[in-house]
Amino acid sequence: MKVTEHIKQAKGKTLFSFEIIPPQKGSNIKELYNNIDPLMEFKPPFIDVTTSREQHVYIEKDGLLDRKITRMRPGTVGICASLKYKYNVDTVPHVLCGGFSREETEYLLVDCHYLGIDNVMALRGDAMSHQKYFEPSKGGHQYASELVEQIQNLNKGKYLHDVIEASDKADFCIGVAGYPEKHIEAPSLQSDLKRLKHKVDCGADYVVTQMFFDNKKYFEFVEAAKQAGITVPIIPGIKPIATKKHLQLLPQVFKIDLPEDLIDAVEDCKDNKAVRQVGVEWAINQSKELQNAGVPVLHYYSMGKSDNIKAIAERLF
Ligand code: FAD
Repeated sequence: MKVTEHIKQAKGKTLFSFEIIPPQKGSNIKELYNNIDPLMEFKPPFIDVTTSREQHVYIEKDGLLDRKITRMRPGTVGICASLKYKYNVDTVPHVLCGGFSREETEYLLVDCHYLGIDNVMALRGDAMSHQKYFEPSKGGHQYASELVEQIQNLNKGKYLHDVIEASDKADFCIGVAGYPEKHIEAPSLQSDLKRLKHKVDCGADYVVTQMFFDNKKYFEFVEAAKQAGITVPIIPGIKPIATKKHLQLLPQVFKIDLPEDLIDAVEDCKDNKAVRQVGVEWAINQSKELQNAGVPVLHYYSMGKSDNIKAIAERLF
């Protein structure tokens, strides 16, 4: 079922969902199941599975964080299918512009359709470590809006080289990314919002936000999006801080601000166990306020670990 239908059916009740990262090449899916099993009691209507062209590892070097490429994490679509049928849950594969030609994207979408996957998240992806700016692959898309257009064409039976009167036409529900603190490359929040509006005009059905730690940023963003004519659901993305290193890493990687109170609380922690507790409490407080404000879904970034997401869900769902 489509994410937007889940939201409609919930009739104003806030839903719980989360995003997972595929296991590393060379490991197996059991690890992933073990991680997800404890979260299924909270009945997520959908689970997102990220895609990466390469795995980025951040290593401290001379006081700075240096990004190193290690290896890809394969298997997003396969993992989505396996979770969908194992847990009877909808899954949302993240589909990237970067690293894929239009043809390869079409194959991936055809696979998703055959596998009964109803939702996809259309994303551009980041520049590779050796690139200063994002460069599309040969024959690939420059912006997520073009990917949204390709998916919508497929929904109309228009494939790249054929128009098909399909007996079972694809009808993907499409999510796109939004940035309450603006995308790093955007010259201003307003111009980024115009680009977001364009993604919606191209056919995006809902937006999931980048993580933020101050709800004011989300509420202002939703208001500004409304002013810009964006009327689709805007799902907040929540990440519980889990280590002291996140204080430097998250702002550096995602270009987001951390509130002073949160920084002070994390800095006062003796060890990472205490930091996790602070992160969980902060996320619970954020979530409660968002829930009270009637957000459609609370979407958690698990980053491969579920224990802190479970601790949050236990108090909210
Ligand atoms: P776009 O919407 O294409 O925007 C990219 C930039 O281009 C923005 O600055 C925008 O303002 C600008 N822009 C857009 N259109 C135009 C135009 N026509 N002319 C000029 N400028 C334009 N990355 C992964 O690699 N894998 C994942 O699984 C993944 N999942 C994510 C999930 C969420 C919820 C979020 C928020 C991000 C995720 N990302 C993921 C990161 C994302 O790929 C990066 O943030 C990327 O840099 C931008 O992707 P986008 O889809 O927002 O790009």
